[in-house]
Amino acid sequence: ARRSLLARATGPGATADGHAVPLLANVGGPGDLESALACGAEGVGLYRTELLFLDRPRAPSVEEQEEAYAQVLEAFPGRPVVVRVLDAGADKPLAFLPPPGEEPNPALGERGARLLRARPEVLAAQLTALARAAARGGARLSVMAPMVATAEEAAWFAAACRAAGLPSAGVMIEVPSAALRAADLAAEVDFFSVGTNDLAQYAFAADRQVGALAALHDAWQPALLDLVGAAASGAAAHGRPCGVCGEAAGDPALACVLVGLGVTSLSMSAPALPAVRAALARHTREQCVLAARAARAASCPAGARRAARAHLPGLA
Ligand code: PEP
Ligand code: MG
Repeated sequence: ARRSLLARATGPGATADGHAVPLLANVGGPGDLESALACGAEGVGLYRTELLFLDRPRAPSVEEQEEAYAQVLEAFPGRPVVVRVLDAGADKPLAFLPPPGEEPNPALGERGARLLRARPEVLAAQLTALARAAARGGARLSVMAPMVATAEEAAWFAAACRAAGLPSAGVMIEVPSAALRAADLAAEVDFFSVGTNDLAQYAFAADRQVGALAALHDAWQPALLDLVGAAASGAAAHGRPCGVCGEAAGDPALACVLVGLGVTSLSMSAPALPAVRAALARHTREQCVLAARAARAASCPAGARRAARAHLPGLA
């Protein structure tokens, strides 16, 4: 038993009863690959492409983008790599991609997919660079859009990906409307990835950059768990995978709860991977389901954490 526990501490993510949960890394560019590989990432669940192009007055060329994307794809041959198209605006301002108008509330403005829709030439250049990078081989590329709120936006993005020759298009679920109507969105795209950081911001009307509101960003908030559950159920209704790539995925107990809610993969900053892998290996899927149910029955974050842990005896 000790030996198999040890194998699970380094091998692919799975629960104690062998239910596979791919454990992926969040990366901001080629510079993060070494740590992702060292921590045993099975692929990339979130490549935040905007980090490459901060502080740049002009949009990067298709060729420059292709090089950066190809480096990440080459690091994970045959493995999944999920690239997010530019998520500009609010907490991630890009000099070459400002919002078209004056905005008193940038987090509620033309950011993410909304901004790309207003600037189709920027999205087209990025999708072309991604298709060219994928054609060079390496990882299995999926592309996803941030800040999608409706099924109509999901359909727009899927069509843009198809037009660029990309085989797999998904959306981030980080706006409550998208979680509440997840089945409608799942009918339009190949996969979901839940961004719990922004999902908390928008569910609790609490700016993620305001430190005084941190308690509302506790990922154990039962309302946030409800929204993640809604996203996973909507995806499952159409046989689509639903990952989580927000900070919540890196908390070992919460990772078990997310699996219990029906989440199919977890992506996190690389150093969090070993502890999450170990926590999953020590619990069955059934224990995860019971922990999730108990957490959702609680009425506050501390109560949710306590209730979940009662079903997760293998945690330190
Ligand atoms: C999120 O919102 O949870 C997320 C993963 O994306 P970012 O933190 O880059 O907005
Ligand atoms: Mg986000």
